[in-house]
Amino acid sequence: MMSQKMQDAINDQINAEFWSAYLYLSMAMKYEDEGLSGIANWFKIQFKEEQDHAMIFINYLIQRDGRVLLKPIEAVDTDWESPLEAFKATLAHERKVTSMIRNLYALAEEENDYATRDRLAWFITEQVEEEETVKNLITKFKLVGTDGTGILMLDTELGTRTYTTPAPLATNA
Ligand code: MG
Repeated sequence: MMSQKMQDAINDQINAEFWSAYLYLSMAMKYEDEGLSGIANWFKIQFKEEQDHAMIFINYLIQRDGRVLLKPIEAVDTDWESPLEAFKATLAHERKVTSMIRNLYALAEEENDYATRDRLAWFITEQVEEEETVKNLITKFKLVGTDGTGILMLDTELGTRTYTTPAPLATNA
């Protein structure tokens, strides 16, 4: 049986994943409004992935006979100066999530909860990929600066992103 402390921490993480989803949907809506549908597409997929992350934790708590408790989702920003600023905010947020996952992992180790630690290992790898992807996009947006043609090119590139179900949900592992 999972400890109450571990359950509470995972419930907090579920809330954080839904908050992330809401943040990225807000970014998607900002760029829909600006006619940058490729950037909006990228953030909409990000929105789906964050909901998937929440579901992975939800499924895991259920599997371990834990109680899922959904809490209110705090408000998110609705405006960013430029796509570059939105991606910088994304990176800052993902870094925060990385440290939250690291704290959960440390708690699982402290409690000798190896099942939870193993589930979290997937998230540790996922966060490395998230940060790398966003860092690369920041580099590109910095390169084009305020050049409209450059931004449109990147918008087209981000429009090609497609959604794939994360492994833990695809296999129901
Ligand atoms: Mg996430």
